Amino acid sequence: MENRMEIYNSLTKKVERFVPNEDGKVGMYTCGPTVYHFAHIGNLRSYIMEDILEKTLRYLGYDVKRVMNITDVGHLSGDSDDGEDKMLAGARREHKTVMEIAAFYTEAFFEDCRKLYIKRPDVVEPATGCIKEFIHMVQVLLEKGYAYEMGGNVYFDTAKLENYHVFSGQTEEELLVGVRDDVEEDTNKKNKSDFVLWFTKSKFDAQELKWESPWGMGYPGWHIECSSISIKHLGEYMDIHCGGVDNIFPHHTNEIAQSEAYLGHKWCNYWFHVHHLNDKTGKMSKSKGEFLTVSLLEEKGYNPLVYRLFCLQSHYRKPLTFSYEALDNMTAAYNKLVKRIADLKEEGEVEQDKYAAYKERFADALCDDLNSAMAITVLYDMLKEDMTDKTKLALAQSFEEVLSLGLFDSKEKEADPELERYVLERIEERKAAKKAKDFATADAIRAELLSKGIVLEDTREGVKWKKA
Ligand code: AMP
Ligand code: ZN
Repeated sequence: MENRMEIYNSLTKKVERFVPNEDGKVGMYTCGPTVYHFAHIGNLRSYIMEDILEKTLRYLGYDVKRVMNITDVGHLSGDSDDGEDKMLAGARREHKTVMEIAAFYTEAFFEDCRKLYIKRPDVVEPATGCIKEFIHMVQVLLEKGYAYEMGGNVYFDTAKLENYHVFSGQTEEELLVGVRDDVEEDTNKKNKSDFVLWFTKSKFDAQELKWESPWGMGYPGWHIECSSISIKHLGEYMDIHCGGVDNIFPHHTNEIAQSEAYLGHKWCNYWFHVHHLNDKTGKMSKSKGEFLTVSLLEEKGYNPLVYRLFCLQSHYRKPLTFSYEALDNMTAAYNKLVKRIADLKEEGEVEQDKYAAYKERFADALCDDLNSAMAITVLYDMLKEDMTDKTKLALAQSFEEVLSLGLFDSKEKEADPELERYVLERIEERKAAKKAKDFATADAIRAELLSKGIVLEDTREGVKWKKA
């Protein structure tokens, strides 16, 4: 098939034509969440833009296989081999076991994704399910001379590579992660940039999760999981690997080091990185105390899909600053857009030439380094165009495959007036129950509707509903 997508590749620092290894097929890998806490809306910016990438590739006709890991072991707060184990800190904070924390926050992550219309990847693999594969990879790296045992741990020897820092343009500060003044230097390491593949001796006495290995009871480093899980499901050659820009170093740098040393050849051709969401004080992060979640936005009355639109209106390679004011403006724009689509009638015939021309324009925008804001402009232009409502509806439906903004949610309701009447009645009953402080009844009504596939949202403008 024709390869027409141009995408920025962090590896070459250029916008390049995207050409997968196998004609018409794409193997795509996404670094999944570390499930020690809720995802903040910054994390979710990355997943929204990766979702747009995946859906664009499908829109263009590729057969995409997307794999995501769930980090439930091994990720230390310093991203390098320093700091606290994030999962352990989460378990302590909530007086639960690590696996309880992992199960709860994995579920919460996918619930957020559902609200943001982010498609679930074809394969989702928790790190703790692949320990055998990690051990095998570490063994091969030892056999090939790319790794060494020291002080009980197994390290990757970065001096064995000609080009460890494959992503150029890193700042000195980034290169010095792990050797900051406040970090105790690991004297086991032969080179400062070496990193742990397998821990047996660690400063975490209370480490709950440990497995038998040829090097003693221990647990894997964070980076090995993504190399191993992606190779397990996508084979030796991967097309595109995604993550937030903070993953470039050390995480993705180390993934490349291990994977290519293990495989003996180039591994992944394209690297897609989403820039950060910031708040007024800087990069949004989970360690900053109170952080912004999808549920918090909902509590404040915002529709999560308005946040999705907010993300799509800006380019994924630019930092984006969050503010409630911006979200208020976006809410107004969103409501207008949805109303315009709801007002379209099933009238006239689809004008095939216009339909095809607009689809082209839409695909062109996305093929231009995933210019999602331009794709939305095409949607607005199309709605203004002199053509039949039926053509507009068909186009909006087609664009929705990628944008996933819930453009038809209100139309769906119209299509089933009986259901609409029933849901509105139940919403009123729930309102009355809440007023009477009968929260059990209110919750029961919500649960009953949910069992029928109806989700209620408490927003500023009152209770809204949609199909799950
Ligand atoms: P974590 O759960 O910390 O492993 O992060 C999940 C994903 O979110 C990774 O791809 C990170 O690179 C990304 N990420 C972290 N912080 C931000 C942020 N402020 N804005 C956008 N993406 C982020
Ligand atoms: Zn990863």
